[in-house]
Amino acid sequence: MRIRRENVWLAFLAGGAAGVAGYRLYPLSGGPTLPHDELNIALTLAGAVAAVFGIRLNRPGARVAWALIAASQFMIFLGCLPTYLPPLFGDAKPAFLGALALIFAVQYPLLALGLVLLIRRRTPSMDRAAALDAGIVTVSAALLSWVYLIYPLTGDSTLSVVDRAALVAFPFGDLLLLSIGARLVLGKGVHPPSLWLLAGSLIAFTAADTLQSVESLAGEELLGGYWPETAWLVASILLGASVLHPSVRLVEEPSPAVVAEAGRYRLALLAVASLLAPATLLVQYLRGAPQHIPLVCTACALLFLLVLARMGGLVAAQREVAITDGLTGLHTRRYFQHSLVMEGERALRGAGLGVLLIDVDHFKSVNDTHGHHGGDRVLREVARRLYVATRGGDLLARYGGEEFVVLLSNTTPPIAREVAERVRRTIADVPIPVGPATSATVTVSIGVATMPEDTTTVDDLLALADELLYASKTSGRNRVTTTAGSPPPVDATGPPRRAEKVAHP
Ligand code: GH3
Ligand code: MG
Ligand code: MG
Repeated sequence: MRIRRENVWLAFLAGGAAGVAGYRLYPLSGGPTLPHDELNIALTLAGAVAAVFGIRLNRPGARVAWALIAASQFMIFLGCLPTYLPPLFGDAKPAFLGALALIFAVQYPLLALGLVLLIRRRTPSMDRAAALDAGIVTVSAALLSWVYLIYPLTGDSTLSVVDRAALVAFPFGDLLLLSIGARLVLGKGVHPPSLWLLAGSLIAFTAADTLQSVESLAGEELLGGYWPETAWLVASILLGASVLHPSVRLVEEPSPAVVAEAGRYRLALLAVASLLAPATLLVQYLRGAPQHIPLVCTACALLFLLVLARMGGLVAAQREVAITDGLTGLHTRRYFQHSLVMEGERALRGAGLGVLLIDVDHFKSVNDTHGHHGGDRVLREVARRLYVATRGGDLLARYGGEEFVVLLSNTTPPIAREVAERVRRTIADVPIPVGPATSATVTVSIGVATMPEDTTTVDDLLALADELLYASKTSGRNRVTTTAGSPPPVDATGPPRRAEKVAHP
């Protein structure tokens, strides 16, 4: 039977699962130990070989990252050899030989570096939210690790310093992997099956280390001895499967920058993570065990600050959405109104204020001719040209459907008029593309009002700009009208008179 390329991972996973099940169940048969240990080594090597084969088969772009991940699995294999093949290395089964510890210690940085390279490809720019979330998970995991593993492990005075150092190296390595793995999974971007298999492998791996540490604290009988080994083998098989899975090529895809958010599951995860610190203190207190109060307080404070920073990011992102028009990217009318009131107060203290109210001419016929989609393209381009034609500090907003408003601070009537005229020309002079081979010539009518010259309140300022806009419309469109009039000259009974009425109440 020939296995199709896209099913290789599944065949490997099934074979690996059978092997791990066999490994766990074999001791129950009461057979000799050697074939059992050989199976362990074979499955450990299988994960590494599968990862290398997966790189050749699927050709992911992030070659180096996956090669480092595969290399870390080879390091585990090398580390296992002296433990499980006594005939080759002499009779003793050295638990923490220096060389063994070194090989295991090299494997953490290799894996960590591979994961970091993947993260960098996925999010070339900073993903602050994911970093904070990973930080929250790491702080609570570090506290748990310290209270329940590292502190008790270092307390065993029967062990040599080297053995103790080797023992605590595992929890520290796991914390490193956990923080980077959390950042990888919690970050923006696609989450293809390959990524989940890799995450599963990391979880199984850190679980195996943790079980191992717990066993050396509690005495092997407690858990039966084979569980950590089994979890390591599960990690090995999942790692191989993640590189064999065809979606391995997608893991490195850069994620589009999206607004920071926090879904229900993520909030639940962060809530559990943040509550672990006070819960640990309570549990230790009730057990009458060491409470590590300074450490718990530090962890609580860190978690508090991390959650606050995360909230700050969320509020800022939501505010950005609230004040930004979805179609054009300009500010919303509400934001403009808010700024107008603030600027109005400054205008009365001497800094001049100007308002340009802009309406696209005959926009209905743009929609009718080029469709609503074409109309939207025109609105986006008008917004872009508004941006180009105005000054750095000017505030641009979409006032309504095809109406825009510009707030000019520190402005005199001549400057306001000049900016308005530049806006009008920038939009009218070059046709706007609305389709692959079509473009539309679009014009705008503008009303310009300034403060304190024309009015004394911002409400009057806006009403006046509206009237002057109306004047531009009735006097032929594609023009700018101020209280001084609108060239070319208009009907004497028309809008300028009305404007004068407002200007000199
Ligand atoms: P006038 O020169 O007198 O301003 O003529 P007009 O056709 O622009 O008149 P009016 O202001 O009544 O028409 C505005 C049209 O803009 C009506 C509406 O269908 C269209 N519109 C409003 N919002 C949008 C939008 O977001 N996208 C598109 N494509 N059209 C919009
Ligand atoms: Mg219009
Ligand atoms: Mg309109």
